[in-house]
Amino acid sequence: MSVLLINGGTVYTADAQESVHARGAVLIVDDKIAAVGSAAEVDKAVAALDPARKAELSTIDAGRMMILPGFVNAHWHEMFAMRFPMRGALRPVSDRDDQAAFMGAGGDMHQISAVFDSFDGLIDGLTPDEAQAIAEYSMWTQLRGGVTTLGDMGSLNRPHSMVAAAQRLGIRFSASTWASDAVCPPGQDRFVRTRDADTVLATFDSLLQLVGKDTTGRIRCRPSIAYVTNMTDELARGMAELAAAHDLGFATHVGALRNEVELMRTYYGETGVRRLAELGLVDERLMAGHCAFLDEQEQKLMLAARAHISHSPGKYGPSGESSLTETGVVPALRRAGLDVSLSTDGSSMPTAGIAETMRAAWQMYNEMGADQTEVLPSDALAMATRIAAKGLRWDDAVGSLEVGKQADLVLIPADDWRYLLNPRPLEAFLWLSGSADVDTVIVGGRRLLSGGKGVEVHEAGLRERYLTALGAFTTRTLKVPAEVVGRVLGQVAR
Ligand SMILES: [Zn+2]
Repeated sequence: MSVLLINGGTVYTADAQESVHARGAVLIVDDKIAAVGSAAEVDKAVAALDPARKAELSTIDAGRMMILPGFVNAHWHEMFAMRFPMRGALRPVSDRDDQAAFMGAGGDMHQISAVFDSFDGLIDGLTPDEAQAIAEYSMWTQLRGGVTTLGDMGSLNRPHSMVAAAQRLGIRFSASTWASDAVCPPGQDRFVRTRDADTVLATFDSLLQLVGKDTTGRIRCRPSIAYVTNMTDELARGMAELAAAHDLGFATHVGALRNEVELMRTYYGETGVRRLAELGLVDERLMAGHCAFLDEQEQKLMLAARAHISHSPGKYGPSGESSLTETGVVPALRRAGLDVSLSTDGSSMPTAGIAETMRAAWQMYNEMGADQTEVLPSDALAMATRIAAKGLRWDDAVGSLEVGKQADLVLIPADDWRYLLNPRPLEAFLWLSGSADVDTVIVGGRRLLSGGKGVEVHEAGLRERYLTALGAFTTRTLKVPAEVVGRVLGQVAR
C-alpha cells in the first residue's frame, strides 16, 4: 500500500456542498482519502503523518490539472460482442441511407422485445475466454474515459467473465445478469412466456455466490430485469425478493420509449411504472433507466417512493430516442427533488462517455428550462459521481472526495487554450473537452491510468485479444461468413 499526495490542482469534491478548492490537494493513505481541501490544509495532514508512513510519501504534481471524483456509470451494458451486427462494423461508410428504426420513431416495441429476449442464446455462444477478452476491452474504454465504478444493468456477456475482467483491470464493478422471460409478439394481445422465471433467478443466485467470494472489495452485484416489456410477474416478484433478502438495489428500463405505453397496456394490462409498483419494485432500491414516458400518477409514485432515475442524454439523439425533450418528465422530476443521475447506457461500440453525457445534461436541461442554472457544471458532475453512487447504493464508499471514502480520482489537464483565464476549469471541460482528455485514473489509491495509458494493462494487448475473440464469436455464433469477418478485421492495423 502507499501514501500519495496529489498536489496543487483545482479539486472538485462533489460532496453535498459541491465544495471546490482552487489550489487544492488530496492525501491518499492506502486505499482511502486521508485529507482533502486547500493545499495548506492537506499539508498539515501530511505533517501529522506517522514518520514511517511519511517516508513512503510520493507526490503527483497536479498544479495544472483538475481533480475530480472517479465517474460512476451506474447504467451500462457490455455489448462489444455485437460490434458487427448492431449498428456496427458492417455498416456502409456513408450514412445517407440511414433510417429511423429500432429505438427510433417511438420504438419498434415488438422487435425490441424479441431482440432483448434473444440475448441468452448469444451469451451462451461466447466461450468464457472470449467473454472475458471482450469484457476487458469494453471496460477498458470506460476506464479510459474516467469511469472508476461501473454498474451493469444486464449485458450481452457472461457475468462471471465480466467479474474476472473487472478484477483484472482494477475497475469497481457492480455485476448483474441479463434477465428476460417474456416477449410481446406482433398481432397478439398478451405476452408469451419464453423461459422459466426460476431459471433466470438462479443465474443471479450463482452470481451472488461468486461475488460473495470476491476479496478485492471492488465487486458488488445488483439484480436487474432487461425491460418491463420482457418480464412475467413471477420474475419481477423473484427479483424483488432477491433485492430485499440481500439488501441490494434493483434496476430496469421503464418509461423508455413513446410506444412502450401502448404496448404495456395491450400485453400486460398496465403501464410500466404502475406495473412495477404493483409488483413491489418501486421503492428506494429502484434505479429506473430512462423513465420519461410516465403519466402523472406514475410520476407521483416515483417521487413518493424516493426512487432513482438514471438518464443518458448523451446517447438519445443518435439512437433515435426522445426521452429528454419529448416529455420533459425527467427534468421536472429532478426539479421536484427526485434523484436523477447520468449514465452512458450501452452500445456495441464506444459512444458518449460520462464527460460527453455531463455536457449533454448541462446543455440540454438548461435549454429546456430556459435557465442556465438548472444544471450547473457542478450539478452535472454530482449527477455523474455522488448521486450516481447513491443510486447504485455504493455511496458508503465512493462518489465524492471526502475523508474516509475510497480514493477513486480522475485527473484532467487544464492548462491549454481551452482553460486560459477561466477560473472554472470544469465549465471549460464541459464546453470543449471529453473522455479522451482524461489523463490519470486512480481506483482505491492504485493508479490504473497515467498519461492516458494503462499502467498495469496495455491497450494494444487488450485490443488484440478483443479482436481475436470478436472474430471467432462473430463467425461461429453470429454466422457472419469468415471471409467478411476476415476482411473487416484485416482493415485494423494490428
Ligand atoms: Zn440501458
